[in-house]
Amino acid sequence: MKPIDLRSDTVTRPSPEMLAAMSRAEVGDDVYGEDPSVNRLEELAAEKLGTEAALFVSSGTQGNLLGVMTHCTRGDEYIVGQKAHTYRLEGGGAAVLGGIQPQPLDFETDGTLDLVKVASFIKPDDIHCARTRLLCLENTMGGTPLPLDYLGQAARLATKHRLNTHLDGARIFNASVKQEVSVQAISRHFDSISFCLSKGLGAPVGSVLCGSREQIQKARRWRKVLGGGMRQAGYLAAAGVYALENNVQRLAEDHANAALLARGLAEVEELEVESSSARTNMVFVKMDQEAAGRLTAHLKKQGIIIQGREDIRLVTHLDVCRKDIASVLEAVKAYFARGK
Ligand SMILES: *Cc1c(COP(=O)(O)O)cnc(C)c1O
Repeated sequence: MKPIDLRSDTVTRPSPEMLAAMSRAEVGDDVYGEDPSVNRLEELAAEKLGTEAALFVSSGTQGNLLGVMTHCTRGDEYIVGQKAHTYRLEGGGAAVLGGIQPQPLDFETDGTLDLVKVASFIKPDDIHCARTRLLCLENTMGGTPLPLDYLGQAARLATKHRLNTHLDGARIFNASVKQEVSVQAISRHFDSISFCLSKGLGAPVGSVLCGSREQIQKARRWRKVLGGGMRQAGYLAAAGVYALENNVQRLAEDHANAALLARGLAEVEELEVESSSARTNMVFVKMDQEAAGRLTAHLKKQGIIIQGREDIRLVTHLDVCRKDIASVLEAVKAYFARGK
Protein backbone atom coordinates (compact mmCIF):
# COMPACT_ATOMS: atom_id res chain seq x y z
CA MET A 1 0.00 0.00 0.00
CA LYS A 2 1.26 3.48 -0.90
CA PRO A 3 1.97 5.47 2.28
CA ILE A 4 0.07 8.71 2.87
CA ASP A 5 2.85 11.18 3.60
CA LEU A 6 1.61 14.44 5.11
CA ARG A 7 4.97 15.78 6.33
CA SER A 8 5.52 18.14 3.43
CA ASP A 9 4.60 18.85 -0.17
CA THR A 10 8.24 18.14 -1.06
CA VAL A 11 7.67 14.37 -0.91
CA THR A 12 5.85 13.98 -4.23
CA ARG A 13 7.18 11.63 -6.93
CA PRO A 14 6.94 12.59 -10.60
CA SER A 15 3.81 11.26 -12.29
CA PRO A 16 4.14 8.94 -15.33
CA GLU A 17 3.26 11.91 -17.59
CA MET A 18 5.94 14.08 -15.99
CA LEU A 19 8.49 11.25 -16.28
CA ALA A 20 7.60 10.86 -19.96
CA ALA A 21 8.17 14.59 -20.51
CA MET A 22 11.52 14.31 -18.73
CA SER A 23 12.68 11.36 -20.79
CA ARG A 24 11.72 13.13 -24.04
CA ALA A 25 13.61 16.31 -23.06
CA GLU A 26 16.08 17.79 -25.50
CA VAL A 27 19.23 18.64 -23.60
CA GLY A 28 22.57 20.38 -24.03
CA ASP A 29 25.24 21.85 -21.79
CA ASP A 30 23.51 24.49 -19.70
CA VAL A 31 26.79 25.99 -18.45
CA TYR A 32 27.28 27.00 -22.11
CA GLY A 33 23.65 28.17 -22.18
CA GLU A 34 22.90 25.39 -24.68
CA ASP A 35 20.22 23.36 -22.95
CA PRO A 36 16.95 24.06 -24.79
CA SER A 37 14.82 22.61 -22.00
CA VAL A 38 16.45 24.77 -19.32
CA ASN A 39 16.13 27.81 -21.59
CA ARG A 40 12.46 26.97 -22.15
CA LEU A 41 11.82 26.69 -18.40
CA GLU A 42 13.57 29.99 -17.70
CA GLU A 43 11.59 31.77 -20.44
CA LEU A 44 8.32 30.27 -19.24
CA ALA A 45 8.98 31.20 -15.60
CA ALA A 46 9.95 34.78 -16.51
CA GLU A 47 6.83 35.08 -18.67
CA LYS A 48 4.54 33.74 -15.93
CA LEU A 49 6.00 35.96 -13.21
CA GLY A 50 6.38 38.98 -15.47
CA THR A 51 10.11 39.47 -14.99
CA GLU A 52 12.80 40.08 -17.62
CA ALA A 53 14.69 36.90 -16.87
CA ALA A 54 14.86 33.77 -14.73
CA LEU A 55 17.40 31.20 -13.59
CA PHE A 56 16.88 27.49 -12.89
CA VAL A 57 18.49 26.66 -9.54
CA SER A 58 18.99 23.52 -7.49
CA SER A 59 16.72 24.42 -4.57
CA GLY A 60 14.69 27.14 -2.90
CA THR A 61 17.59 27.70 -0.54
CA GLN A 62 19.89 28.42 -3.49
CA GLY A 63 17.27 30.69 -5.09
CA ASN A 64 16.91 32.78 -1.94
CA LEU A 65 20.67 32.90 -1.36
CA LEU A 66 21.23 34.13 -4.91
CA GLY A 67 18.39 36.60 -4.44
CA VAL A 68 20.03 38.08 -1.36
CA MET A 69 23.57 37.91 -2.80
CA THR A 70 22.61 39.75 -5.96
CA HIS A 71 20.84 42.60 -4.14
CA CYS A 72 23.41 42.94 -1.36
CA THR A 73 27.13 42.82 -1.01
CA ARG A 74 29.60 42.40 1.87
CA GLY A 75 28.71 44.85 4.64
CA ASP A 76 25.07 45.19 3.58
CA GLU A 77 22.07 43.90 5.48
CA TYR A 78 18.59 42.63 4.65
CA ILE A 79 15.43 42.89 6.72
CA VAL A 80 13.67 39.57 7.16
CA GLY A 81 11.15 37.85 9.43
CA GLN A 82 12.38 36.19 12.61
CA LYS A 83 10.75 32.90 11.58
CA ALA A 84 11.28 33.32 7.84
CA HIS A 85 12.72 30.31 6.05
CA THR A 86 15.46 32.49 4.58
CA TYR A 87 16.65 33.58 8.02
CA ARG A 88 15.97 30.50 10.08
CA LEU A 89 16.23 27.44 7.90
CA GLU A 90 18.88 28.18 5.28
CA GLY A 91 22.02 27.81 7.38
CA GLY A 92 22.69 31.53 7.55
CA GLY A 93 23.91 31.30 3.95
CA ALA A 94 23.88 35.02 3.18
CA ALA A 95 26.09 35.71 6.23
CA VAL A 96 28.29 32.65 5.71
CA LEU A 97 28.90 33.10 2.00
CA GLY A 98 28.05 36.72 1.25
CA GLY A 99 29.15 38.67 4.35
CA ILE A 100 25.56 39.95 4.46
CA GLN A 101 23.95 40.51 7.83
CA PRO A 102 20.28 39.75 8.47
CA GLN A 103 18.12 42.13 10.50
CA PRO A 104 15.37 39.81 11.74
CA LEU A 105 12.03 41.24 12.95
CA ASP A 106 9.09 39.48 14.58
CA PHE A 107 6.17 38.67 12.32
CA GLU A 108 2.69 39.98 13.01
CA THR A 109 0.08 37.24 13.49
CA ASP A 110 -0.90 37.42 9.80
CA GLY A 111 2.66 36.70 8.63
CA THR A 112 3.38 40.28 7.60
CA LEU A 113 6.19 42.48 8.89
CA ASP A 114 4.88 45.70 10.41
CA LEU A 115 6.05 48.34 7.95
CA VAL A 116 6.43 51.04 10.61
CA LYS A 117 8.80 48.68 12.42
CA VAL A 118 10.59 47.86 9.16
CA ALA A 119 11.15 51.58 8.51
CA SER A 120 12.47 52.10 12.03
CA PHE A 121 15.09 49.36 11.50
CA ILE A 122 16.51 50.84 8.30
CA LYS A 123 19.96 52.01 9.34
CA PRO A 124 21.08 55.59 8.82
CA ASP A 125 23.91 56.39 6.45
CA ASP A 126 26.56 56.13 9.17
CA ILE A 127 29.91 54.35 9.23
CA HIS A 128 28.82 52.54 12.40
CA CYS A 129 26.03 50.69 10.62
CA ALA A 130 25.61 48.03 8.00
CA ARG A 131 23.94 49.37 4.84
CA THR A 132 20.29 48.29 4.75
CA ARG A 133 19.63 47.25 1.16
CA LEU A 134 16.87 44.68 0.97
CA LEU A 135 13.47 43.75 2.34
CA CYS A 136 12.71 40.04 2.15
CA LEU A 137 9.18 38.66 2.55
CA GLU A 138 7.75 35.13 2.38
CA ASN A 139 4.51 34.08 0.64
CA THR A 140 2.70 31.91 1.53
CA MET A 141 3.69 32.36 5.15
CA GLY A 142 2.81 29.34 7.29
CA GLY A 143 0.49 28.26 4.50
CA THR A 144 -1.38 31.58 4.40
CA PRO A 145 -1.12 34.09 1.54
CA LEU A 146 -0.05 37.63 2.45
CA PRO A 147 -2.81 40.22 1.84
CA LEU A 148 -2.44 41.79 -1.63
CA ASP A 149 -2.82 45.37 -0.42
CA TYR A 150 0.00 44.76 2.06
CA LEU A 151 2.32 43.78 -0.79
CA GLY A 152 1.68 47.13 -2.44
CA GLN A 153 2.35 49.00 0.81
CA ALA A 154 5.59 47.06 1.35
CA ALA A 155 6.72 47.86 -2.19
CA ARG A 156 5.99 51.58 -1.71
CA LEU A 157 7.94 51.62 1.55
CA ALA A 158 10.87 49.92 -0.15
CA THR A 159 10.86 52.44 -3.02
CA LYS A 160 10.70 55.33 -0.59
CA HIS A 161 13.74 54.06 1.31
CA ARG A 162 15.59 52.78 -1.76
CA LEU A 163 15.48 49.17 -0.66
CA ASN A 164 15.25 46.32 -3.11
CA THR A 165 12.69 43.61 -2.45
CA HIS A 166 12.97 39.83 -2.65
CA LEU A 167 10.11 37.39 -2.21
CA ASP A 168 10.69 33.87 -0.91
CA GLY A 169 7.79 32.66 -3.00
CA ALA A 170 8.40 28.97 -2.44
CA ARG A 171 4.60 28.54 -2.60
CA ILE A 172 3.64 31.66 -4.57
CA PHE A 173 1.39 29.57 -6.85
CA ASN A 174 -0.56 28.30 -3.83
CA ALA A 175 -1.11 31.94 -2.89
CA SER A 176 -2.27 32.98 -6.36
CA VAL A 177 -4.65 30.02 -6.72
CA LYS A 178 -6.07 30.59 -3.23
CA GLN A 179 -6.53 34.34 -3.77
CA GLU A 180 -7.85 33.75 -7.31
CA VAL A 181 -5.45 36.26 -8.80
CA SER A 182 -2.73 35.89 -11.41
CA VAL A 183 0.69 35.11 -10.00
CA GLN A 184 1.80 38.49 -11.37
CA ALA A 185 -0.62 40.25 -9.04
CA ILE A 186 1.79 39.04 -6.35
CA SER A 187 5.14 38.97 -8.15
CA ARG A 188 4.86 42.49 -9.61
CA HIS A 189 5.52 43.99 -6.18
CA PHE A 190 9.02 42.48 -5.96
CA ASP A 191 12.37 42.99 -7.68
CA SER A 192 13.06 39.27 -7.45
CA ILE A 193 11.14 36.14 -6.60
CA SER A 194 12.27 32.61 -5.90
CA PHE A 195 9.68 29.84 -6.27
CA CYS A 196 9.86 26.07 -5.81
CA LEU A 197 9.06 23.53 -8.52
CA SER A 198 9.49 20.64 -6.10
CA LYS A 199 6.71 21.46 -3.64
CA GLY A 200 3.05 21.67 -4.61
CA LEU A 201 3.95 21.79 -8.31
CA GLY A 202 5.21 18.23 -8.05
CA ALA A 203 8.59 18.33 -9.84
CA PRO A 204 11.33 16.17 -8.31
CA VAL A 205 14.01 18.88 -8.07
CA GLY A 206 14.52 22.59 -8.50
CA SER A 207 13.45 26.16 -8.02
CA VAL A 208 13.54 29.26 -10.20
CA LEU A 209 14.85 32.73 -9.36
CA CYS A 210 13.07 35.46 -11.35
CA GLY A 211 14.26 39.05 -11.69
CA SER A 212 15.76 41.67 -13.98
CA ARG A 213 18.18 40.66 -16.74
CA GLU A 214 21.02 42.33 -14.89
CA GLN A 215 20.25 40.59 -11.62
CA ILE A 216 19.87 37.17 -13.23
CA GLN A 217 23.21 37.65 -14.98
CA LYS A 218 24.84 38.27 -11.58
CA ALA A 219 22.97 35.29 -10.11
CA ARG A 220 24.22 33.04 -12.92
CA ARG A 221 27.79 33.91 -11.94
CA TRP A 222 27.18 33.28 -8.22
CA ARG A 223 25.35 30.04 -9.00
CA LYS A 224 28.48 28.82 -10.79
CA VAL A 225 30.63 29.88 -7.82
CA LEU A 226 28.36 27.88 -5.51
CA GLY A 227 28.81 24.79 -7.67
CA GLY A 228 25.30 25.08 -9.03
CA GLY A 229 26.20 25.17 -12.72
CA MET A 230 24.53 21.99 -13.98
CA ARG A 231 25.17 20.46 -17.37
CA GLN A 232 22.35 18.45 -19.04
CA ALA A 233 19.90 19.84 -16.50
CA GLY A 234 17.16 19.84 -19.15
CA TYR A 235 15.89 16.49 -17.89
CA LEU A 236 15.04 18.23 -14.61
CA ALA A 237 13.91 21.46 -16.25
CA ALA A 238 11.45 19.47 -18.39
CA ALA A 239 9.74 18.36 -15.18
CA GLY A 240 9.51 22.04 -14.21
CA VAL A 241 7.98 22.99 -17.55
CA TYR A 242 5.49 20.14 -17.21
CA ALA A 243 4.66 21.31 -13.67
CA LEU A 244 4.07 24.93 -14.72
CA GLU A 245 1.89 23.85 -17.62
CA ASN A 246 -0.16 21.22 -15.82
CA ASN A 247 0.02 21.42 -12.05
CA VAL A 248 -0.84 24.99 -11.11
CA GLN A 249 -4.64 25.12 -11.22
CA ARG A 250 -4.93 21.75 -9.51
CA LEU A 251 -3.41 23.25 -6.33
CA ALA A 252 -7.02 24.16 -5.54
CA GLU A 253 -7.61 20.42 -4.90
CA ASP A 254 -4.83 20.41 -2.30
CA HIS A 255 -6.41 23.43 -0.63
CA ALA A 256 -9.83 21.74 -0.60
CA ASN A 257 -8.28 18.55 0.82
CA ALA A 258 -6.54 20.53 3.57
CA ALA A 259 -9.83 22.23 4.47
CA LEU A 260 -11.57 18.84 4.58
CA LEU A 261 -8.82 17.47 6.80
CA ALA A 262 -9.02 20.48 9.14
CA ARG A 263 -12.80 20.17 9.48
CA GLY A 264 -12.61 16.44 10.20
CA LEU A 265 -9.81 16.78 12.74
CA ALA A 266 -11.65 19.60 14.50
CA GLU A 267 -14.33 17.03 15.39
CA VAL A 268 -11.81 15.17 17.55
CA GLU A 269 -12.08 16.47 21.09
CA GLU A 270 -8.43 15.81 22.00
CA LEU A 271 -7.07 17.88 19.12
CA GLU A 272 -6.76 21.63 18.86
CA VAL A 273 -6.92 22.47 15.18
CA GLU A 274 -5.91 25.95 14.14
CA SER A 275 -8.74 26.85 11.86
CA SER A 276 -8.48 29.48 9.19
CA SER A 277 -10.27 29.63 5.88
CA ALA A 278 -7.32 31.61 4.49
CA ARG A 279 -4.93 28.68 4.66
CA THR A 280 -3.82 26.87 1.53
CA ASN A 281 -2.38 23.34 1.76
CA MET A 282 -1.42 23.20 5.44
CA VAL A 283 -3.23 22.24 8.61
CA PHE A 284 -1.75 22.91 12.05
CA VAL A 285 -2.71 20.81 15.04
CA LYS A 286 -1.61 21.57 18.58
CA MET A 287 -1.30 18.76 21.05
CA ASP A 288 0.71 17.65 24.02
CA GLN A 289 4.19 16.50 22.92
CA GLU A 290 3.95 12.97 24.34
CA ALA A 291 0.49 12.44 22.91
CA ALA A 292 1.78 13.66 19.54
CA GLY A 293 4.59 11.09 19.68
CA ARG A 294 2.14 8.27 20.40
CA LEU A 295 -0.23 9.34 17.63
CA THR A 296 2.66 9.62 15.15
CA ALA A 297 3.88 6.10 15.99
CA HIS A 298 0.37 4.67 15.76
CA LEU A 299 -0.38 6.25 12.38
CA LYS A 300 2.97 5.13 11.00
CA LYS A 301 1.90 1.51 11.45
CA GLN A 302 -1.10 2.31 9.27
CA GLY A 303 1.05 3.85 6.54
CA ILE A 304 0.25 7.45 7.48
CA ILE A 305 3.31 9.62 8.00
CA ILE A 306 3.16 12.82 10.03
CA GLN A 307 5.74 14.81 11.96
CA GLY A 308 5.95 17.56 14.55
CA ARG A 309 6.00 17.85 18.30
CA GLU A 310 3.50 20.16 19.92
CA ASP A 311 2.66 21.77 16.64
CA ILE A 312 1.98 19.17 13.99
CA ARG A 313 1.93 20.49 10.44
CA LEU A 314 -0.02 18.41 7.96
CA VAL A 315 0.55 19.23 4.31
CA THR A 316 -1.57 18.15 1.35
CA HIS A 317 -0.14 17.69 -2.13
CA LEU A 318 -0.40 15.94 -5.48
CA ASP A 319 0.22 12.49 -3.99
CA VAL A 320 -2.61 12.79 -1.46
CA CYS A 321 -6.11 12.33 -2.84
CA ARG A 322 -9.52 12.93 -1.31
CA LYS A 323 -9.84 9.26 -0.41
CA ASP A 324 -6.54 9.46 1.46
CA ILE A 325 -7.97 12.30 3.56
CA ALA A 326 -10.93 10.09 4.45
CA SER A 327 -8.52 7.29 5.43
CA VAL A 328 -6.49 9.64 7.63
CA LEU A 329 -9.60 10.95 9.38
CA GLU A 330 -10.87 7.43 9.91
CA ALA A 331 -7.54 6.32 11.40
CA VAL A 332 -7.25 9.35 13.70
CA LYS A 333 -10.85 9.08 14.90
CA ALA A 334 -10.50 5.32 15.52
CA TYR A 335 -7.31 5.96 17.50
CA PHE A 336 -8.94 8.45 19.84
CA ALA A 337 -12.13 6.36 20.15
CA ARG A 338 -10.20 3.29 21.40
CA GLY A 339 -9.99 4.28 25.01
CA LYS A 340 -13.61 5.41 25.24
C1 LIG B 1 10.95 24.78 1.15
C2 LIG B 1 11.12 26.21 1.33
C3 LIG B 1 12.29 26.86 0.94
C4 LIG B 1 13.54 26.16 0.46
O1 LIG B 1 13.40 25.20 -0.46
P1 LIG B 1 14.45 23.99 -0.60
O2 LIG B 1 14.22 23.59 -2.00
O3 LIG B 1 14.04 22.98 0.42
O4 LIG B 1 15.81 24.52 -0.37
C5 LIG B 1 12.34 28.22 1.08
N1 LIG B 1 11.33 28.90 1.61
C6 LIG B 1 10.20 28.32 2.02
C7 LIG B 1 9.10 29.15 2.59
C8 LIG B 1 10.06 26.95 1.90
O5 LIG B 1 8.94 26.36 2.32
